[in-house]
Amino acid sequence: MLLFSTIFHEIGHISASIKYGVVPKWAGVGIYFTSPIAFVDVDDTWKLPQKQRIVVDIGGIYFQLIISCIYALWYIIFKTPSALNAAYLLVVSVIFNLNPFLKYDGYWIFSDLLGVYNLNQHISESIRFLFCKLFYRKKCKQKHNEFDDNKSLLIGIYSLVSVIFFIYFGLTLLKSSIISTWKLFKCFSVYNLFVSMVLLYFSVVSINSLFRMLKDIVFLQQNNV
Ligand SMILES: [Zn+2]
Repeated sequence: MLLFSTIFHEIGHISASIKYGVVPKWAGVGIYFTSPIAFVDVDDTWKLPQKQRIVVDIGGIYFQLIISCIYALWYIIFKTPSALNAAYLLVVSVIFNLNPFLKYDGYWIFSDLLGVYNLNQHISESIRFLFCKLFYRKKCKQKHNEFDDNKSLLIGIYSLVSVIFFIYFGLTLLKSSIISTWKLFKCFSVYNLFVSMVLLYFSVVSINSLFRMLKDIVFLQQNNV
């Protein structure tokens, strides 16, 4: 049921992009932050006008919600408990998918709403600009960003919340990986070993990206770039 809906989610992106004349080059399956994802390469959509890009971004979630309605209807008619569980899980995954700090659909929707293609590349500069505006109140100049001050401030706020999110996310993952490693010592099982290895890996990845982000910010501050 869930696999079917994942495929249907991607069909949502594909059909929207084909509607606007962009044919995806390839499709694949990968793992991103502990959850398996299917993805289609709709990279060429950046050539589309903003509104159409947002429709392509939302397409997957839209199709997924249709499927969850069908599962819910299935439950109402046939009283199959697994259909209700699937509908519930799909709605939860839509909410998770809308998180703009990880590179899921929410991230692309947010960056297309702003009209900024590589949001991640502007994090440090925007945070520096935001702090400059907040604390120095002098004429703050942007050297790397090509957008107006308001947009930069908005990206700055996004980036700051994003740093806070990564601190929280990294620490939560680290905490769960420590707990599962502790469980491993008390009762060894291959499953526990796998879970703690995966959790440890992702906590290191997210803490590492956090440190890189902070290093960039400090570097820009020191050099007053
Ligand atoms: Zn999607």
